[in-house]
Amino acid sequence: MKTNKESLSWDNLRFDLEPWLKNAIHSLEYPTMTPVQASTIPLLSGNKDVIVEAVTGSGKTLAYVIPVLQKVSKVLYSVPEGEDRPETLKRGHVLAIVMAPTRELSKQIQMVFDKVLGYLPEEMTPVIKTQLLVGSLGNVRGDLEFFQQHQPQILVATPGRLLDFIMSSKYVKTSSLEIVVLDEADKLLDFSFETDVVKILKQLPKQRRTALFSATISAAGDTIFRTGMNNPVKLQVKTKSLMGELNNSAPTSLQLSYMMIDPEYKLTTVLQMLHSFVFKKVIVYLPTCSFVKHLYQMVTKLVDTQELKFFSLYGQLSTKSRLKTLESFIEGNDDSTKYVLVTTDVAARGIDVPDVDLVIQMDPPLDPNVFIHRCGRTGRANKVGRAIVMLNNDTQEEDYVGFMEVKNIFMTKMEPPRNPNHDKFYKDVRKYILEDRARHELAVKSYVGFIRYYSKHIASSIFRMASLDYLAIAKMYGLLRLPKMPESKYIDNAQMPQDGWLGDVIDMDQYAYADKLQEKSRLESLKKDKLTKAATAKRRKELKAKNEAWSSKTDKKEAKLERKEKLKRKREAIEKQLIQEDGRGGANDDDDDDDETKEDWKDMIRKNKQEKKKRKKKNDSAVQGSFDDL
Ligand code: ADP
Ligand code: MG
Repeated sequence: MKTNKESLSWDNLRFDLEPWLKNAIHSLEYPTMTPVQASTIPLLSGNKDVIVEAVTGSGKTLAYVIPVLQKVSKVLYSVPEGEDRPETLKRGHVLAIVMAPTRELSKQIQMVFDKVLGYLPEEMTPVIKTQLLVGSLGNVRGDLEFFQQHQPQILVATPGRLLDFIMSSKYVKTSSLEIVVLDEADKLLDFSFETDVVKILKQLPKQRRTALFSATISAAGDTIFRTGMNNPVKLQVKTKSLMGELNNSAPTSLQLSYMMIDPEYKLTTVLQMLHSFVFKKVIVYLPTCSFVKHLYQMVTKLVDTQELKFFSLYGQLSTKSRLKTLESFIEGNDDSTKYVLVTTDVAARGIDVPDVDLVIQMDPPLDPNVFIHRCGRTGRANKVGRAIVMLNNDTQEEDYVGFMEVKNIFMTKMEPPRNPNHDKFYKDVRKYILEDRARHELAVKSYVGFIRYYSKHIASSIFRMASLDYLAIAKMYGLLRLPKMPESKYIDNAQMPQDGWLGDVIDMDQYAYADKLQEKSRLESLKKDKLTKAATAKRRKELKAKNEAWSSKTDKKEAKLERKEKLKRKREAIEKQLIQEDGRGGANDDDDDDDETKEDWKDMIRKNKQEKKKRKKKNDSAVQGSFDDL
């Protein structure tokens, strides 16, 4: 679809929206539509199912929020006066559902709805209301009470809680549903959500509209057919590359770079960037929750945070604190402060913080599609943004750049800035870690978590376990000692530090938790362990002695008996032969056979003896040989 600035005027929208909605849009501070809005709103407000792929930050949310409000308004406000209210207006009927993969994103979507609804004239009743349904923010019963009391027509939800909610009560009626939207649809249709999403869709009436949105919808593949769409229109809004071709998968306002770096220096280089780069807000993506915790705790203790304000966000936190953290990060607007959000992929998709102008990825994500989403947290709505990914030196990781080019993601190389305080920082880290055993445990957990993470990369030919520098990584994480794990086999024998110690050896028994209770229970179990160990060792010693005595005695006795028996049998056999020989008195030609048998027998004994000797010799030399081989 061809669009230019003029045709992007809201007045040129090719659909006649409800008057209040038109006014609301004019009151929002968006002078023009974005291309994705211009093409999606008319289709979705009409009677089409849509699949929309448009780059990050291109305004997809409003591209469905307006059609949803249009449809809901139509149902609510188009009842001619004097007529009976139709079924849809009776209590408990939901008219629209929007699903999203994370709680933060659901909350943000609800806020976009509520922002537009802020312009709904007071006289329009019933008032259009939204309800947020996300995990661990209250319970389903509370959600139901809210629903009954406020009668929201629009639900914004993560799939798990929505399913529980719909199933929990006959009071929630979906039979009048007009429209269902799946934001970040490829994520909602991947293995983590698909079952719940499909179950929900089955509960909804067939004649509803369905709309899927994402910057990477193609990743969903055939699963989109499980959504029961009706002859959908596929809209693709790409941006121009510098060469003018319409093929970029990332917005043009976003500058993408990568750096090749020794893993040992990754963390201090990130800190260097935070200190020396000019930016307002940055999101730093880390591979695991543990590392987010570990890094956040370290920096708040060890880094001069005068101009930097750190926030940490990860899945294990409670929903309340997740939403609050994100809110504070969004609200931060002190000009002399740089805001730093340290997070995992929980904040990779959809999150819209307009003044994020830098994204740093300490490692690429497992799924190459997520790379696009992480970078897309900056450079939104035509604002300039910069995204940097760190790749490990001396691995195949530089191939990632070419691999992403195939997906129309183009990066330029940059030199990592060196941190002059690297050594001092790690001296401080060691001191910090030694102050509390729990800190080391968290560091180890982060390291182990990273190794597990690395092994799960989809592009496994680029991210090879065998080429990682494990020692450097362990040092970067601040470990005192390498944990025992199978991947250590990749460490060169010559480089493997004795007993895994990365610095001076410390006495682990003396290494205490700062938490008094935890330390008390550690000491108690240490004491118990020592006692059990001593008892086990003693018992083992006793048993060994007993067994040895018993076995050697019986062995000796048995061997003696056996030898005696053998000798006896041999003697008897020989005697028998000799008697027979004597008795015959001479060779009988007819008895040639017998003579031969006798000879054979004697021969056999001789041969056996010789062979036994040979075997013994061979074995001895084999043993020697095996030592030579070592
Ligand atoms: P996407 O979902 O495509 O990643 P969002 O819907 O989150 O993008 O929108 C990105 C940003 O663009 C938001 O801050 C939003 O307020 C802004 N935005 C939306 N529509 C417009 C518009 N028509 N003009 C200018 N900015 C817009
Ligand atoms: Mg979005």
